[in-house]
Amino acid sequence: MATFQYDYLVVGAGLFGAVFAREATQTGKRVLVIDKRCHTGGNIYCEQIAGINVHKYGAHIFHTSNQEVWDYVNQFVSFNRYVNSPIANYRGKLYNLPFNMNTFYQLWGVTTPDEAKAKIEEQRAPFKHLDPQNLEEQALFLGGKDLYETLIKGYTEKQWGRPATQIPAFIIKRLPFRFTFDNNYFNDLYQGIPNGGYNALTNALFEGVEVRTGVNYFENKAELDGLAERVLYTGKIDEFFDCKLGQLEYRSLHFETEVLERENFQGNAVVNYTEKSVPYTRILEHKHFEFGTQEKTVVTREYPHEFSKDNEPYYPINDNVNNRLLEQYKALANEPVYQQKYLFGGRLADYKYYDMDDTIEAALALTKREL
Ligand SMILES: Cc1cc2nc3c(=O)[nH]c(=O)nc-3n(C[C@H](O)[C@H](O)[C@H](O)COP(=O)(O)OP(=O)(O)OC[C@H]3O[C@@H](n4cnc5c(N)ncnc54)[C@H](O)[C@@H]3O)c2cc1C
Repeated sequence: MATFQYDYLVVGAGLFGAVFAREATQTGKRVLVIDKRCHTGGNIYCEQIAGINVHKYGAHIFHTSNQEVWDYVNQFVSFNRYVNSPIANYRGKLYNLPFNMNTFYQLWGVTTPDEAKAKIEEQRAPFKHLDPQNLEEQALFLGGKDLYETLIKGYTEKQWGRPATQIPAFIIKRLPFRFTFDNNYFNDLYQGIPNGGYNALTNALFEGVEVRTGVNYFENKAELDGLAERVLYTGKIDEFFDCKLGQLEYRSLHFETEVLERENFQGNAVVNYTEKSVPYTRILEHKHFEFGTQEKTVVTREYPHEFSKDNEPYYPINDNVNNRLLEQYKALANEPVYQQKYLFGGRLADYKYYDMDDTIEAALALTKREL
């Protein structure tokens, strides 16, 4: 019988791999974690620049209503009182998000919920007969022209890289109108940023776990597989099978980050730019996630673009074509020859958008089944 140096090899030091590695180590398993990047944490990793935690792979705000997940993360870190309240900038004028009484006041000068509801009905009236066939029609049907043109059209077209008339209607199922003066983007019970930043969370999860960064699994797969009895793979599912059935599609992003010699640039962590002619979708000012008082500030402009093998896969495109392909890969992964050795999990192996709390919930569920 083969003897292994480790019980588990975990491919990917992101949040999913970190939770699994922590729990497996806790139960006495010998675990080795590898990641092809030069750091741990996956997409929640923060880089320190000018004393500020910079969200290197996009803005991350922890929010959950899942008590088990909240208690779990609080074993490792405490959270600050950050509440996500993004602002939209359309042609220099500012609007609060999500759509709430402040937004309706800024759009139309209405001051009461009844006035706001009446205005929305008036705006929707010309489009009420529509049977929406694309995102533009859906947004007009649900919210009318002003809201669509000011806050939805340009932003969504930049995100998807095509006209709203060519984006499927199901992307917007409903518009979350709030008839209160509440700018909190999320409805969850708990929210915040870990005190000390996200690296404090991942470092605590990896405490006492052997981690090797800068190691690409596929460059040495057979040898790495030989080290452990079982392998948890959290990379892209299609890549695991050498993309032999085809490639799953993603939207990608690129980020331009700069240090500014001033204390405060935009007064908010997240400002969305909703007009088409501004090429980025948003500007992050990272210090505001942690109420920073540093002398300098760091801002990041976020540009959506096409995915290719040379850039990061950010958002899965879960349309029918990709979902069918995913089912085929899942069927392969379920074959006994793979099941004996491999476990799959995380946003890339599941080809699913997971918030951090979903990621932790899924990793804990796998842990319970496996350990
Ligand atoms: C732009 C953006 C913003 C987000 N904002 C929020 C937010 O505000 N709130 C929230 O709750 N969630 C947010 N999320 C979701 C959050 O990022 C995920 O829930 C979480 O990072 C998923 O963790 P993971 O371990 O599954 O994946 P990842 O973090 O992607 O980790 C996978 C790791 O596997 C490694 N890997 C892949 N292939 C290989 C290989 N061949 N060899 C070695 N290593 C490999 C990768 O390098 C990576 O480090 C956001 C996501 C994105 C894309």
